[in-house]
Amino acid sequence: HARTVSTQSRIYDISMSQELLNEQHMLERLKLALQEETLELYYQPQFDVRTGALCGAEALCRWNDEELGAISPIQFIHLAEERGLIHLLGDWVVRTAVAQLQEWLRDYEPFEGALSVNISARQFDDPFMANYLIDKVSDLPRGMFAVELTESIMMRNPQQGMQQLRRLHEAGFRIAVDDFGTGYSSLSYLTQFPISLLKIDRSFIQHMRPGNHQHSIVMTILAMANVLGLDTVAEGVETVEQEKLLKDMGCYCMQGFLRGKPTPAKEFAERWLNVKQ
Ligand code: C2E
Ligand code: CA
Ligand code: CA
Repeated sequence: HARTVSTQSRIYDISMSQELLNEQHMLERLKLALQEETLELYYQPQFDVRTGALCGAEALCRWNDEELGAISPIQFIHLAEERGLIHLLGDWVVRTAVAQLQEWLRDYEPFEGALSVNISARQFDDPFMANYLIDKVSDLPRGMFAVELTESIMMRNPQQGMQQLRRLHEAGFRIAVDDFGTGYSSLSYLTQFPISLLKIDRSFIQHMRPGNHQHSIVMTILAMANVLGLDTVAEGVETVEQEKLLKDMGCYCMQGFLRGKPTPAKEFAERWLNVKQ
């Protein structure tokens, strides 16, 4: 019996070390990608269904490695967070998005809403994060930049997180709560933090059928947002039925494959921005 156990734990050890090796290798490749700036930002549009006009865009990071192929951001963002690369990666994301927005504002008509970037809760462990962001957008018109944060920031670092978000808010940033409804934090933070909008999590939208639980949850989130004066964006809208249910409940800003997938900057501008006259 003892032998079986030890054989099993040996097999376990070997597969573990293989996993670690893979992870180590991926980490090295990611460092290289950051050094050589071979990551990309894609942009996904958000539309106001009442007018069909663009009402914002989200920058989403892409990594297509020569050796490893395309890797999901869920995987490499997690790796970057765990292995201390998120600050470097986040800095590249912010610089790239700001430069992109500057270029668009130079060549195209301004659009409604803001360009948003995802910021990991961990990036706010840095007490100078707000200062850094404010400095980066100093050449942009006020209100055109948004940060998307998950509820974990309120759990991870409530005091410091709140102070930094206040500074950002005062500086004209729009602050969005990402994946809203999936976190575990108390709803009281909604009134304490300077939040501008809620992004209703894709899981509710995807499972929403007339009269089911998810439908009621979305309705409740919208009612609450309305009372608190917060804007809402529906994430992951894939079907006309979902869009109609949302519209009937008074949610008008849609982000999802139905209206537009994340695309490279050039294609985004060609399809959805109007050239300046
Ligand atoms: P997220 O912030 O919730 O981003 C939305 C995700 O939903 C994106 O996945 C987007 O491609 C996907 N999506 C949009 N519309 C639809 C739809 O209609 N159906 C479906 N099934 N999916 C849709 P993506 O690009 O794979 O990103 C995954 C996550 O990785 C993001 O989730 C975000 O948490 C993280 N991430 C991506 N880029 C960055 C970044 O630059 N910084 C940080 N910190 N995190 C990032
Ligand atoms: Ca997001
Ligand atoms: Ca989201």
